[in-house]
Amino acid sequence: MKLFYVLISLLLLLPPSFAGSTPNLVIIFADDLGYGDLGSYGSPVIRTPNLDRMAAEGLRFTDFYSAAEVCTPSRAALLTGRYPIRSGMCGNRRVLFPNSKGGLPPAEITIAEALQPAGYATAHIGKWHLGIHEGSRPNEQGFDFSFGLPYSNDMDARAEILKGKGGSGSPNPPHDGWNVPLLRDGKIVEQPADQTTLTKRYTDEAVKFITEKKGGPFFLYFAHTFPHVPMFASPAFKGKSRAGIYGDAVEEIDWSTGEILEALRRHELAENTLVFFTSDNGPWLIMGDQGGSAGLLRDGKGSTWEGGMRVPGIAWMPGRIKPGVTPQLAHTMDLLPTALALAGTPAPDGLTLDGTDLSPLLFESKTLPPRPFFYYRGDQLFACRLGEWKAHFKTQTGYGQPKPESHEPPLLFHLGRDPSEKRNVAADHADALAQIQQAVKGHQSGIVPGAPQLR
Ligand code: MG
Repeated sequence: MKLFYVLISLLLLLPPSFAGSTPNLVIIFADDLGYGDLGSYGSPVIRTPNLDRMAAEGLRFTDFYSAAEVCTPSRAALLTGRYPIRSGMCGNRRVLFPNSKGGLPPAEITIAEALQPAGYATAHIGKWHLGIHEGSRPNEQGFDFSFGLPYSNDMDARAEILKGKGGSGSPNPPHDGWNVPLLRDGKIVEQPADQTTLTKRYTDEAVKFITEKKGGPFFLYFAHTFPHVPMFASPAFKGKSRAGIYGDAVEEIDWSTGEILEALRRHELAENTLVFFTSDNGPWLIMGDQGGSAGLLRDGKGSTWEGGMRVPGIAWMPGRIKPGVTPQLAHTMDLLPTALALAGTPAPDGLTLDGTDLSPLLFESKTLPPRPFFYYRGDQLFACRLGEWKAHFKTQTGYGQPKPESHEPPLLFHLGRDPSEKRNVAADHADALAQIQQAVKGHQSGIVPGAPQLR
């Protein structure tokens, strides 16, 4: 009897085993969705019942970060598990433009490339924005299948159509005002892409991929085009939210997420699929009604204030992840190490990673080791967080402030007592500042900047 109890106790201590059926991974990445734009994150006006249910059934992060303040570096970091300074996917131009010479270097290893040797089927659906030249495109960065836009939906503007109709921030943009193509495995299937039905078509493709690959394992990287301006929604959603076309676009993404989770349930894959929902950066505040909300956080997209980089983060895997809310710090660069752990695959030799495996937190409710988080604007380090303390060495509003302001001594905020970063308490907490400066020193000594790609 005693031996029996000892054995049972030992079994209970074992980490959850995924032996037998390798788990699937789905990452859903919204574009420019703010920290305050979901019901479960406090939005009083945008209805997100599917994401709220996902949060109630899963683990909702209060302190989850994108690894950059704008699109291209954020995506590079998520897919490689590395600060974008290492891949060169950041700089003064901020993002890749259609005339940029570079792209995600072929030598970088994406989550898709890391999972392929473990037998994963891989798909990219939605926005890419990591390069249009050979070696940087989705099919050359580990994705068996790709369907979506090569870059942002406001690029390739057609001046002749847009004349007099407002720019990308218009509340009612012309559907053919941007010449961005829709690609399937690198081939143009529609140009200009009809943006009004993009979310619906992305979702159909995602559900089809899940259905076809239900034997698993699979990795789906679903990067929405919205709610990035110009804002569009399908007829079923247009004009339906209280928050204008921005709210319509977010509510359609909520619907889409519900469709993905429902497909997983239908195929009995829910308990064997980690789904992670997040956003590439904060809300684009200068877009007014067409920009979202960072809630109580300061500033938005483009800045290293909290509103620029702290974003919704929801992990879902019913039966494996205990429902709850966690204040632990995590970020998009953790997803690659977490994916490797799920797959039971070691990290590629010699690869420097900036993330950590979230499995102990997700599956065993453990506390992650304390670690600093670094806030870059382009290739410049602007701020660092350690525990509840955040120091700003430089500050600059996301858009509109031409030059950064340097701070010596740095500004210091306590993100627990002052999440809106209003009260600089550097003068009273020299010890916290010294610890952060130590962390920055260690970080910078290990950084080898990659060749700049955005030029
Ligand atoms: Mg973005």
